[in-house]
Amino acid sequence: MSKKEKINSRRTFLKAVGAMGAGSMLASMIPLANASDQNSSKNKTEAIPTRLFGKTGVHVSILALGGVLGLNDQIVFRQAFKRGVTYWDTADGYGWGKNEKAIGKYFAKFPDDRKKVFLVTKGSSSDPKKLDQKLNMSLKRMNTSYVDMYFIIYVKNVKNELTRQVQTWAEKAKAEGKIHFFGFSAHKNMENSMLAAAKLGWIDGIMMSYNYRLMVKDKMKKAVDACAKAGIGLTAMKTQAAFSANFYASIGSESDQALQMTENFLKKGFAAEQAKLIAVWENSNIASICSAMPNMTILQANIAAAMSKNKLSLGDKHRLNQYAHQTAPGYCTGCSDICESTVDFKIPISDILRYSMYSNSYGNQDEAAMLFNSLSTETKANMLKADYSKAEKYCPQKMQIHKVLKKAHEDLIS
Ligand code: SF4
Repeated sequence: MSKKEKINSRRTFLKAVGAMGAGSMLASMIPLANASDQNSSKNKTEAIPTRLFGKTGVHVSILALGGVLGLNDQIVFRQAFKRGVTYWDTADGYGWGKNEKAIGKYFAKFPDDRKKVFLVTKGSSSDPKKLDQKLNMSLKRMNTSYVDMYFIIYVKNVKNELTRQVQTWAEKAKAEGKIHFFGFSAHKNMENSMLAAAKLGWIDGIMMSYNYRLMVKDKMKKAVDACAKAGIGLTAMKTQAAFSANFYASIGSESDQALQMTENFLKKGFAAEQAKLIAVWENSNIASICSAMPNMTILQANIAAAMSKNKLSLGDKHRLNQYAHQTAPGYCTGCSDICESTVDFKIPISDILRYSMYSNSYGNQDEAAMLFNSLSTETKANMLKADYSKAEKYCPQKMQIHKVLKKAHEDLIS
């Protein structure tokens, strides 16, 4: 086979893998990854492992059911529960309340399951009155009198957002029995927020972007250690580190890098997606991975990964590192304090790159467009005329910021 034919053949294979989706691919790898489990009828019904969630004293499943499920997805909740995926994550805004209502439908049918589920929801505000309203609405939608954890969603600055009033509100909600624990989620400048939270003394849990690209960074290692020492339970999200920008698609090399890694893991009996989850679980300070599981295929695939006894070899870790390095310009690590201050206009660069990821990598065009178009008209106009040369110079991922923002604008504007 000529070099050109080889490349075309590999690209065709990758296209097929892409069409299957990560979950399907993982499912197809289960027999390889879990050969010993498949031969054991005992293991087929074994619940997935649990880990202690910080200083809460509660053990949670190492896989958490996330994403947006609808009223008709009850089978996913039922099977998740039966297999021990008993950490369920949602937010008042997911699917404009659809996900909370779907959970409420489940608990209406299976009320005894409620106390066995570690239920997390989130709301966005630092105003105690609004937090009251949001929490009460979430409880009503989910047919429950309490949540195990309440997160302030998408915290960017701990000092400004986790104020004394918010602390007082959290203590009151705990005293009323409406929440058991309190924390926040973070998508950008996560390390700063984690380090600041570790000093506060009243944060029980954090859900943050954490994956094979981020976990190797010194600042992230320091932040995870600080939270572990402070007894803060940690939940990893965005563990597949999907591309924020279609940078590679534009120059045609993404396929080759991804395919090379996939081929290497397949030879070892892993799917690359499975390896990415296992890499995160190998850090015992991460209590759980929150993963969107919109259907049974992905649920089963992720459960198989959680049950797998496979460990990553040094070579496997090297492959992940190499891939992360080779594809860095396609992934925004959320360090917006580096780039956003170098631009004359106030442009939420990392947010826009995240919306782009929802569209390019998750196929969630509607949510991406909704989030993008909630930016002000001025911001959307300024993002096209801003000078990003300094931002690109300092970006540790060496992203072509101007180019990918322009493309995001073209793709998402309405
Ligand atoms: S500096 Fe680069 S990686 Fe960091 S937020 Fe900005 S664009 Fe993303």
